[in-house]
Amino acid sequence: MLDVTEPEIPALIQRFPRLFHGRAPQCWSAIPPGWLALVSDLCVAIDGMLDDAQAERFEVVQIKEKLARLRFYFRFSADGAAPPSLELILNEQVRMLVDDAAGRSTSTCFICGGAGLLGQSDFRVLCAVHRRSAQP
Ligand SMILES: [Zn+2]
Repeated sequence: MLDVTEPEIPALIQRFPRLFHGRAPQCWSAIPPGWLALVSDLCVAIDGMLDDAQAERFEVVQIKEKLARLRFYFRFSADGAAPPSLELILNEQVRMLVDDAAGRSTSTCFICGGAGLLGQSDFRVLCAVHRRSAQP
């Protein structure tokens, strides 16, 4: 079992029982403070989209920042009864929500959640205030 030290992950597990099933994501996960609202909005959207049977098969695999972009990996366990085309559509619908959130993360300060820009040298998304305080 994973040792979850990031406090925001247990909070999400508690808030979205249908998506996390009371368990930490399988892979190490952490969410920059400025992106917490993005991630919980994303969870609200996914939770609202899935019916109970679909949510049962849904699993969050990992949430993290990589290359200045939110990564939210998920999977559905197979449902032998559902036609493959429906499975693809379901996957695609969740993926679109994830892509939307990931797209917004690239202009959201990872510290405060304000409007941010990607730094050319450090490859981090920061607002003007945090960009200034990040200067050496
Ligand atoms: Zn900021």
